[in-house]
Amino acid sequence: MRRTCELPTKPRGPAVLATGLGGWGDLSAAARSPQPVAARTRSGGGRNRRRSGLRLDRMEKLKELLHRSENRICADCGAPDPKWASANIGVFICVKCSGVHRSLGTHISKVLSVTLDKWADNEVDSMIEIGGNSQANAIYEAFLPEGYQKPHPDSSQEEREKFIRSKYELQEFLKPSLRIVSHQSSDSGKHAGSSKSEIGMIEFIGILNVKVIGGTNLAIRDMSSSDPYVVLTLGQQKAQTSVIKGNLNPVWNEELKLSVPREYGPLKLQVFDHDMVFKDDLMGEAEIDLQTTINAAAAFGDPGLLGDMQIGRWLKSEDNALVRDSAVVVASGKVKQGMALKLQHTESGELELELEWIPLNM
Ligand SMILES: [Zn+2]
Repeated sequence: MRRTCELPTKPRGPAVLATGLGGWGDLSAAARSPQPVAARTRSGGGRNRRRSGLRLDRMEKLKELLHRSENRICADCGAPDPKWASANIGVFICVKCSGVHRSLGTHISKVLSVTLDKWADNEVDSMIEIGGNSQANAIYEAFLPEGYQKPHPDSSQEEREKFIRSKYELQEFLKPSLRIVSHQSSDSGKHAGSSKSEIGMIEFIGILNVKVIGGTNLAIRDMSSSDPYVVLTLGQQKAQTSVIKGNLNPVWNEELKLSVPREYGPLKLQVFDHDMVFKDDLMGEAEIDLQTTINAAAAFGDPGLLGDMQIGRWLKSEDNALVRDSAVVVASGKVKQGMALKLQHTESGELELELEWIPLNM
């Protein structure tokens, strides 16, 4: 297979985001420029005395952002003069809302004081990149139901908490494509029929690293155990783990790599029992919806510029295999998604995976 040179250009997320990235070029340049020697020198007290020009520049940008009229009211309740911010979400918030944000945990919202806290460079960068309350709310409140009453400055703690959890933790008001609950399994065969010649022309939009961590309570296919291995199928591509002999709770920790074409369907996962004599028996299967991950990554842009944060969530539902909701997060500049799947078409078994999505359009 070969990759054509016509890779998509960023960002392919919601139009609303694309319009908000006016400062992108400047920001990227600033974030990537080497740090001045003063900032890199670890010896003595010089580091604290002489703050680099780049840092001051960043903090000035943050202040500038805070003083924009849209950021003069709390992103969640509209209280005037917010003094707090969620650095990873990119919103300025009031003290009351900041308390709720803090209770969500830093993996969802990293709360900092605009005036009191020391900000890391990537925290400032992610605030600037998201662009303030209007931009963030255009994402997180894109599909606020008509007539929905947002909390106001005097709302009760319960009301405030309910809204903030729905908005950021459950991400209920995101654009539907960013919060896909289930996937029609009829889509599964949609792209599988491509002929060999078409394969040569496929444009890949990214690489998916799938770490197959392990299985629990898998089905018995031999006398008293099974020799399981996992097969992943994406369109015409297949990848498989090694066989683990006689184990219903196997640990693989194997990473499988797949290229993801522009027209992708669900990732299919199958567990088989290796059989020396007969055809290998199916021990269960599951489908993984990649849209949540890929759309969320496209919407939020270069993960290398974002702090650790949740950017999407594939919700458990009756017609998908999830054991629990699966969050798409940025962790150390990478887009990751852990998930536990209940195997279908079998009597028992769960499988644990971790996906890493590497877009090729960054
Ligand atoms: Zn507030």
